[in-house]
Amino acid sequence: MLLSRVGYYSDFFAYPVQIAVLGAATFTYADADRASIYVAIFLASLALWTLLEYILHRFVLHHLPWIKEMHEQHHRDVRALVGTPTWFSIALILGLVFFPVLWLADVAIASIATSGFMSGYLWYVSVHHMVHHGHPVHSGCLYSAKRNHAMHHADQAYNFGVTSCFWDRVFRTVRRPR
Ligand SMILES: [Zn+2]
Ligand SMILES: [Zn+2]
Repeated sequence: MLLSRVGYYSDFFAYPVQIAVLGAATFTYADADRASIYVAIFLASLALWTLLEYILHRFVLHHLPWIKEMHEQHHRDVRALVGTPTWFSIALILGLVFFPVLWLADVAIASIATSGFMSGYLWYVSVHHMVHHGHPVHSGCLYSAKRNHAMHHADQAYNFGVTSCFWDRVFRTVRRPR
């Protein structure tokens, strides 16, 4: 949806704070002998986010009524401050990741898994912001993300991944920029 300036940029402040709080909770409640497990859970959550990013963009943002109309706003005007309200995305991640994992495991595991997802989401909103509002250097990763995402804006059947094209390759929706 179209957000105010404060609403649009609040992800960039609220998410680092949330991730820091979850990191502190992990350190407080962690079992030192299981450090490698926590690192693995963080990396697995981050990787799972990239799949979720693909699924959300391809099937929710482009097909679900009401949400689809809001995403079309972004496709019509790429520089409009269109996004998901921070309170809503945080509540969703806490409700779908933190509390279910807390119920299944413990505070340290729930916190590290949620911080992995939140880091993935922050990475996604940052890359998406930079590809539309920034001027990445011609040879960098951000420049290739910008070119890949520009292809999605030219043809909405391709390039649903913003942070990586891995899942587009897996599901054969990748189209390389010429
Ligand atoms: Zn799209
Ligand atoms: Zn875009």
